[in-house]
Amino acid sequence: YFDVSKPWLNRVLERSEKLSLKAVDGVSFAIRRGETMALVGESGCGKSTVARLVVGLYGLTRGTLTFDGEDISDLAGRTGRQAAAVRKRFQMIFQDPYASLNPLWRVGTIIGEPLRFFRPEMSGAARRQRVGELLEQVGMSPMDANRYPHEFSGGQRQRISIARALANEPEFMICDEPTSALDVSVQAQILNLMRDLQDEYGLTYLFISHDMAVVKHMADRIAVMYLGRIAEIAPADQLFATPHHPYSKMLLAAVPSLEGGGKERSVIQGEVPNPVHPPPGCAFHPRCPHANERCKAEVPALIARVDGSEVACHGVEEGRIE
Ligand code: SF4
Ligand code: MG
Repeated sequence: YFDVSKPWLNRVLERSEKLSLKAVDGVSFAIRRGETMALVGESGCGKSTVARLVVGLYGLTRGTLTFDGEDISDLAGRTGRQAAAVRKRFQMIFQDPYASLNPLWRVGTIIGEPLRFFRPEMSGAARRQRVGELLEQVGMSPMDANRYPHEFSGGQRQRISIARALANEPEFMICDEPTSALDVSVQAQILNLMRDLQDEYGLTYLFISHDMAVVKHMADRIAVMYLGRIAEIAPADQLFATPHHPYSKMLLAAVPSLEGGGKERSVIQGEVPNPVHPPPGCAFHPRCPHANERCKAEVPALIARVDGSEVACHGVEEGRIE
């Protein structure tokens, strides 16, 4: 359904910080219609960069992007109708609903904006009707259309962002840390809402998070990223039960256990190196207890295993690591 071809080698210029080059290298995955694919990893691993490449906010320098059979590698450079035809099928939900809602606009104007843009033929009355329906779909009242973003809590503002994202009946949603700015109790409500909406509308999610507990709740499949590369891809249940890559094991060991009162069982070892100048060979080798000379020299390829996972690790490939 959604394919990032291999090998996918990119040097991405972050538009906001023109001086810092961020690299995403050799990232390759496919997302199936109706599933939730999670991208996980520590901050700076390139998750958000991948999300922005996928929606065309950043351009590809090499490799291809395919959406529903169509090559959209040139999406970032498209304009007008050509861009709109693809973009209206995608939506992005960001971490910070405070920053992504225009504080000067009423909620009805905010949610109706994509309708004005993509469906200019729609009458004002029809649009107001649709905005009311969208507010109800996210558990709010049609009356809320007349209020302003600052009148709502963080969770309600994220509901408003979701309503706006749903306005054009998108197929594919990229959710970048959608609940990490919210209280834990509110997080669960928003995640459940997103799951319900997925079932109802057959949405496909690319779900980006650093929080393994959140990912466990949402994902069908998980891609673990480390310094701009994919370390391991596996079905979610399987990754939690039998992670292969040493970095996946480290991430999972650091997941707070809910039974243990949320206390961390173990802490991730070592610093994350600078993603612009990653270590040679396997970028994880300075932190890996299994590193050998080959690991320091040779970048491990992502290799499919019989159990359905894909792992980029020499130790796993050589049978030194389970
Ligand atoms: Fe560790 Fe080597 Fe595997 Fe990298 S390739 S994770 S250094 S064993
Ligand atoms: Mg991020």
